[in-house]
Amino acid sequence: MCADYARDKKTTKKAVAGRSGRCVCYIIEKGVMVLRRDAIYVVYGEDPQAMVFFALRKLHLAIDPSWRVGIKPNLVVAKPATSGATTSPGLVAGLVQYLQEQGVRDITIMESSGLGQDTKKAFRVSGIEEVARKYRLRLVDLKGTPAQKMNGPHYHGQVFQEALSIDYLINLPVVKAHCQTNITCALKNLKGLIPDSEKRRFHSQGLHRPIAGLNTVLKSDLVIADGIMGDLTFEEGGTPVRMDRILLAQDPVLLDAYVAELLGYQTEEIPYIRLAEELGVGSTQGDVLELNRDLGVAKEFQRDRKVARLTEKVEAHAACSVCYGALVHALERLRASGVKISAPIHIGQEFQGQTGAGIGIGRCADGFSRHVGGCPPSARAIVEFLQR
Ligand code: SF4
Repeated sequence: MCADYARDKKTTKKAVAGRSGRCVCYIIEKGVMVLRRDAIYVVYGEDPQAMVFFALRKLHLAIDPSWRVGIKPNLVVAKPATSGATTSPGLVAGLVQYLQEQGVRDITIMESSGLGQDTKKAFRVSGIEEVARKYRLRLVDLKGTPAQKMNGPHYHGQVFQEALSIDYLINLPVVKAHCQTNITCALKNLKGLIPDSEKRRFHSQGLHRPIAGLNTVLKSDLVIADGIMGDLTFEEGGTPVRMDRILLAQDPVLLDAYVAELLGYQTEEIPYIRLAEELGVGSTQGDVLELNRDLGVAKEFQRDRKVARLTEKVEAHAACSVCYGALVHALERLRASGVKISAPIHIGQEFQGQTGAGIGIGRCADGFSRHVGGCPPSARAIVEFLQR
C-alpha cells in the first residue's frame, strides 16, 4: 500500500497491489493532491489538451512565473501524432494553457529531430508550429545552434546550449516501442537535445549507456508522456496503437519502468532504465495513481495488416481502447518471442457476467475459464498470463 494512501485520510482511495508489486490507487473522491517524486499519475481519455490541463490543476503544479521553461516534444520525424511517432499538439497546448494561467511567460519549445530529419518540417507537419503561433511561444529548431561540451562523471559530450539555459525542462515523450531499445519514452527523448554528431556516437556505443549518462547532465523536471497513440514496434510510427492515456511524473526512470510494463516488457529488457537508476537519475520503485477513470469504449481500432493479423483470434465487444491497446502490444511481444496462441481471446465490457471456455482479458472477461484480471491490465500482465 502506498504511503500517500495511509497518510491522507481526507482522500478516499482504494489501493490494489499490482502484479508488479506497485500499488495502483484508484482516486474515488476529491482530495488534495501533491505531485510526488515517487509516483506516476495516469489520466485516461481521448483529448490530450483537456487531460493535461485537468491533471496539472488537480496536482497543483507550481512553477515560478519568472522561470524560463523549456518544452521538449518528441518530433523524431515529420509525421502527425496519429502515426504513433510524435507528440500530440493538443498535449503541448494544454500544458501551455496551464503555464500561462500560472503567469509563466518565457516558454520555449525546442527540438532537434532524428538523424537526417528536418525539424522545421516536423514542427509544421505535427501541428506544433500552429500551437506556438497561437500561444506566442518561441519555437527553436536546435539543429545548427551552439552546443556545449559537458564533462560529467558519466557523460562526456555535446549538449545544445539552449537546453542548458532553461530553468525548468518539461519532457513530452511518446509511449511507444523501439526497434533497437524495445521502448522509447522519457529517458531516450532527451536525445533530441544533442547535436546529430552526438546522436551518431550514441548509436555507435549501443545507445543504452550514453542515454543513461545524458540524463545525469540534463534533468527532466517534469515528464508528461503522450500515451494517446504510440507505435507497436518502431519509433518512427506506421503501426499506431491507441492507448488513450497520458502519464505524468517527475522521475523519468520510474516513468520509463512503468511504460515498459505497459508495452509488455520487463524493466531488464531495456538496459538504459537500470543504468539510469544506478547513476542516480531516479528510481524504478513508486506508486501509480489514477486521476480519473474515463475508460472509453473504442469507437474503432486501427486495422492495418499487422494489427489485423495479430488480433485474428480476438473477439472484442465494447472493449476499451486502453484494454485493447494493451492486448495488441502483448500479442506483438508474444509473436516476437515465438509464442503462438490458438484459443479464442475475449475482451470487452459485453463479456461482463458471461462464463465459458477460452481466454478472457481484463476484469470484464473474468468469467472465462482462463483469464487475466485488471482494469485495464498492462501488456506485461497479459504477456505473463498468456506465456503460462
Ligand atoms: S476490463 Fe473492461 S472496463 Fe476495464 S478496461 Fe478492460 S474492457 Fe474496459
